[in-house]
Amino acid sequence: MYRIGEKEVEAVRKVIESGQLFRYHKGRTAERTRRLEQALARKLGVKHALAVSSGTAALITALAGMEIGPGDEVIVPGYTFISTALAPLAVGAVPIIAEVDESLTLDPADVERKITRYTRAIVPVYMLGLPCDMRSILRVARKRGVPVVEDAAQAAGGSYRGKRFGTLGRVGILSFNHFKIITCGEGGALVTDDTDLYQRAFIYHDGGCVFFNEEARRQPSFFAGVNYRVSEIQSAVMNEQLKRLDGILNRLRRRKAAMTEELLERDGFRPARCNEPEGDCATHLPLLFDTADAAAAFVDKYRRRTPMFRPIDTDRHVYTNWEPILRKRPRHPKMNPWKWARRDIRYGKDMCPQTLDVLARTVCLQVPLEPTVREVRSTARSLD
Ligand SMILES: *Cc1c(COP(=O)(O)O)cnc(C)c1O
Repeated sequence: MYRIGEKEVEAVRKVIESGQLFRYHKGRTAERTRRLEQALARKLGVKHALAVSSGTAALITALAGMEIGPGDEVIVPGYTFISTALAPLAVGAVPIIAEVDESLTLDPADVERKITRYTRAIVPVYMLGLPCDMRSILRVARKRGVPVVEDAAQAAGGSYRGKRFGTLGRVGILSFNHFKIITCGEGGALVTDDTDLYQRAFIYHDGGCVFFNEEARRQPSFFAGVNYRVSEIQSAVMNEQLKRLDGILNRLRRRKAAMTEELLERDGFRPARCNEPEGDCATHLPLLFDTADAAAAFVDKYRRRTPMFRPIDTDRHVYTNWEPILRKRPRHPKMNPWKWARRDIRYGKDMCPQTLDVLARTVCLQVPLEPTVREVRSTARSLD
């Protein structure tokens, strides 16, 4: 969360006073959610946006919309929030964990090695707002005929070669939870140009939508879904947050550029490789050190001066801490995606050594939004 205030308070007040808190009104999507979905689709440049209750719900809905299920494999990076790896399990598929490279995002070469004839999706994740190597990932995906699902939960508004994150593959997802760039506490969205996928996602995200939505009632292929609906309160907040998005990104980018400039002037600092500096959300500045000890020492020395962390120390974002997955613990013994898999899936803490090495040698500085550029510069200068 960066900015939230009077505009959001006023928007929520109006929703509550109107008495229309529900996603549907008279057989159609209600005003705030309709506006949000239209604005999001327009801003990102896609045909369809579906607002849902969380980023995780958006991931699961995207996979359901692609008809992914038992026997299927989904490739995810070993550095991402655990949700990315849990989502395939929720639809009966299994996550296959691939390396990240020095850009902290999915390593296209390892993706190619891990594709099997059961791979049904590749999920690049824009961790810390950083761009993935989409050119290489899309090339591998096209060559092997596997669709790409972009997890832009931490990267709303970023772009790669002129296209916003989430719109380069078959389908993309965003999260609006408290910690993301724009937020309504909990929420998410799926974006796609694929109308069939969108319609299946719509049906899946609201198993009861025939009650309220005349369009869905006309769908010939109605099937069993769940409830990941948003409320008009969430959408009202998100309409205001969306208006703030580009301003937030511009401020962050100016501050990150100043920090980078200060640090690069001196020896000993190497910014991590960035796949697309222009489209980077600029929420973080990753620095790559020669050794894990040097990175740890830097954090110890300076973390009180400005917020920073080593990705290796971020618990559920690192695959070695994904206990339910590494131990293959399904929710119910008879609903076990690993038993439904068409080959023996093996996990181990040592399966992505490159990922662990990079995460241990990297220090991510948080880019602050509120201080002036001059203040940000002077803090960066003090990290010697
Ligand atoms: C936050 C996050 C999610 C899940 O979003 P929720 O809204 O918390 O469910 C998925 N993937 C990544 C990379 C995230 O950071």
